[in-house]
Amino acid sequence: MSVSHHSWAEPYKIKVVEPIRMTTKEERVAAIKEAGYNSFLLRADDVYIDLLTDSGTSAMSDHQWAGMMVGDEAYAGSRSFYNLVSAVEDVYGYEELIPTHQGRGAEHILSQILIKDGDYVPGNMYFTTTRFHQEHAGGRFVDVIVDEAHDPASLHPFKGNIDLDKLRKLIDEVGADKIPYISVETNVNMAGGQPLSMANLKATAEMCHQNGILVMLDATRALENAWFIKQREAGYMEKSVAEIVREICSYSDGATVSSKKDNLVNIGGFLALRDPELAKAARAMLVAFEGLHTYGGMSGRDMEALARGIREMVETDDHVHARVGQVEYLGDALIKAGVPIIRPVGGHGIFIDAKAILPHIPHDQFPAQALTAALYLASGVRGMERGVVSAGRDKVTGDHHYPKLELVRLAIPRRVYTQAHMDVTAEAVIGVLEHPEDVTGLRFTYEPESLRFFQARFEPVS
Ligand SMILES: *Cc1c(COP(=O)(O)O)cnc(C)c1O
Repeated sequence: MSVSHHSWAEPYKIKVVEPIRMTTKEERVAAIKEAGYNSFLLRADDVYIDLLTDSGTSAMSDHQWAGMMVGDEAYAGSRSFYNLVSAVEDVYGYEELIPTHQGRGAEHILSQILIKDGDYVPGNMYFTTTRFHQEHAGGRFVDVIVDEAHDPASLHPFKGNIDLDKLRKLIDEVGADKIPYISVETNVNMAGGQPLSMANLKATAEMCHQNGILVMLDATRALENAWFIKQREAGYMEKSVAEIVREICSYSDGATVSSKKDNLVNIGGFLALRDPELAKAARAMLVAFEGLHTYGGMSGRDMEALARGIREMVETDDHVHARVGQVEYLGDALIKAGVPIIRPVGGHGIFIDAKAILPHIPHDQFPAQALTAALYLASGVRGMERGVVSAGRDKVTGDHHYPKLELVRLAIPRRVYTQAHMDVTAEAVIGVLEHPEDVTGLRFTYEPESLRFFQARFEPVS
């Protein structure tokens, strides 16, 4: 799906550059071994094109950098905090703001104030840190995403949708009083950056509110979701992404946001709520775990840059057009070469189907982890595993969660790389696919108990 029939260009010009360096094959062989075949453990200096994540890797604008200089570092009542409050209210429409150091800080607080032991928390596919905090608070996550989300071949335009039958079934089975809230993620990360439709969100909110269940968004990628609604859903073509983001949030009771994504800053996040009583409970947690209620986990300059980033992302539609357009450019190049990737191409990266490429590697030898390491070895391009390693183990049975999708993610930082970097990346992936039989499976040499994908170490299975 192409965003436009005309050529487009980035809506900015480059004022500062940061050199990058290509390594030799020998250097990369040593580096990946040293890193235990885990791309999270590589040194950034050993990476050529870094597509590990689009989290906190955005380039800030000159206006944001200027904001760093005028940030107010007052311990209490910082001017930059109030600038952030009004930016969140204007762009997202929430009145109560709880600033945190990043998204998981907000997830921690939300989970602790709403989830009781034995509760259920439905969601449209899991996100790693979100599910961790739900389970840490005593809840049990239940996936209620549509089946199409688990099918890499499905061209469904809204693979992030909630399956209302699954949600109804859960409510009937466990009772609405065991479900404090539904966690609705915009542009579902683990499904490949896939949006949900406004109609689906509206219907979900209706069902939940009729049953006294709160609707909490993971609005981390609401902007990218809004762009897809504008492109794909009837009635939204003439609306601005600013209007669409506001409407998305209007169906919810609050949101957690990692500002390291849409919001164009390198660190930060927030919990936003409507109910002042709930906000009071959140602030009590905030002062214990993050910081005073007018800075949470951020410095004044961070809040100033964030306030400006939030406004900037929706100032015109040109930013998100170029952002998603660059992802689609890389996706189209891979599709043309026959690389099996998740389609439609999502909002923040390309997701390569590792099981389809490496059928000779059993699922418990981590095909996507192995393919990520092989891509780095061949080219210096760094991606990330999104498969069985990321999914972790079942808390009750101790078995691996085996997700249907076993993916290598190439996430594109915002405003950082050029189309030429995308060309080089496409060539690198195509190169590895020429000899898939050279890639061998992996086994753990160290497995952390939770969020294991960040720090796990592996060795090749001989
Ligand atoms: C990144 C992310 C988070 C977690 O946020 P951090 O800032 O990394 O703590 C939560 N949900 C989604 C959808 C994300 O992409």
